[in-house]
Amino acid sequence: MLEFRQVSKLYGQQVALADVSLSVERERFVVLLGPSGSGKTSLLRCAAGTEHISEGAVYLDGELVDDGRRPVPPERRQLAMVFQDYALWPHMRARENVAYPLRRRRVSSSVADRRAREMLARVGLGALTERYPSELSGGEQQRVALARALVARPRLLLFDEPLSNLDPSLRDRMRVEIGTLVRDARATALYITHDQTEAFGLADQVGVLDKGRLVQFGTPEAIYATPATAFVARLTGLSGELPGDVARVGADGVVTVRVFGRELAVPTRDAPSPGSSVMVMVRPSAVELLPPTRPDCLFRAEVLDAAFCGRGYEHVVQLVNGHQLSSVFAEHRWERGSHVGVRLAERGCLVFARGPAADGVIQGVADTDSLKTGRLKRALAD
Ligand code: ADP
Ligand code: MG
Repeated sequence: MLEFRQVSKLYGQQVALADVSLSVERERFVVLLGPSGSGKTSLLRCAAGTEHISEGAVYLDGELVDDGRRPVPPERRQLAMVFQDYALWPHMRARENVAYPLRRRRVSSSVADRRAREMLARVGLGALTERYPSELSGGEQQRVALARALVARPRLLLFDEPLSNLDPSLRDRMRVEIGTLVRDARATALYITHDQTEAFGLADQVGVLDKGRLVQFGTPEAIYATPATAFVARLTGLSGELPGDVARVGADGVVTVRVFGRELAVPTRDAPSPGSSVMVMVRPSAVELLPPTRPDCLFRAEVLDAAFCGRGYEHVVQLVNGHQLSSVFAEHRWERGSHVGVRLAERGCLVFARGPAADGVIQGVADTDSLKTGRLKRALAD
C-alpha cells in the first residue's frame, strides 16, 4: 500500500531521512519507533505529501507519488492523518468535523451526516455529536479525530504520536481502541511514536529509526529477541548493560563472555572475535533473583530498591562493582539492603561490540557508501 524506496530527506544540510526503504502491506499496522529527532514526522509527512523527498521514490498503492521532482499533492493521495494535537475545526460540531472529509469528496450532506453519526457512535461518542471541540475532553477530541480519519475509508491512515497529549490511564485505553477500530475497518496504518510499549502493543510490524536511518524492521517479537543494534536494544527495554570480554566462540552460535570474572554463554548471530570487548545487554525478563547462597547464581548483588507493582515487585540491584540492573521482577519482595544472588538466562542477554566508534554495532547498518549522491554524503560527513 505504501512503499519508500531509498528515500532521503534533507532540510538544507540537515539530514532527516537517509536511504530509507520501507513497505507497508495492505491491512497491516506498521509502527515506526524512534527518539525525538530521528525523522519520524518527516517520514510521515513525505508519505502524506506535505513534505517532498530529496531522493528516492514513494509509491502509494503502486502509484508513484513522489520521485523528488513532481510530487502528487496531499489532497490527491487519499490518506488521512491523526495528529497529537487533534487538529479539529474549532467552529464545527463533532458531527460536522467528521462529515468534513466526505463533504470534500462531494458526498451529499444527508449521506455524510448519517455516516458521520455512525462513525461517532463506533468511537463511543454517539451522545456527543453536537458538541464543539472546546466542549470535549482531550480523549474525546482524539476520538473525533479518529472518526474523521476513518470515515472516508482512506487508502492509508497516518498517525503522528496521537496519544502523547493524553494522560497515562487514558493513553492505554485509547491505544487499544485505535488498534481495534483500525483492524475492524480493515484499514492500513502507519503510526509513529517514541514509546516502545505503544509500538509493541499496536504493531504487526515495527520499524526503528535511528538518526534518519531505518535500522531494523520486523515483528515486535523479532525486534525484542534479536535487536539489530545496541541502539535498538536500548530503545526496546533493558535491565542493564554489563561490560565483558569474549572468552570463546562456539561453532553453535554461542559465545562465552567473561563478565566480572564469571562466564556467561550467550547465543549470537554474529561472530565477535575472542578477546574482543563486548557489552552484554540484559533484558529485564532474563534476570532472576535467588538466595545468595545458591550455587547456580552468577553474581552477588545488593538490593537498592523494591517497588510494589501490583502483580509483584520490581527491584533495582547493585552488582559488586557498581553496575546496576533495574526492572527486576519477583513475585515477592527482596528487602532493600539485603544480599541476593543474580541468575541471568541466556535468552534475553544480547552481545554487542563495545567501543566509541562501533556504538555497539556488530550487525551492519547501511553505511554511507550505499548512499547515492554526493549531496547527502557531504551532509552526513559534516
Ligand atoms: P521526529 O518526528 O522523530 O522528532 P523530525 O522528522 O521532526 O523527527 O525531525 C528529524 C530531523 O530533521 C531533526 O533533526 C529536526 O531538527 C530536523 N527537521 C525537521 N523539520 C525541519 C525543518 N522544517 N527544517 C529544518 N530541519 C528540520
Ligand atoms: Mg515528530
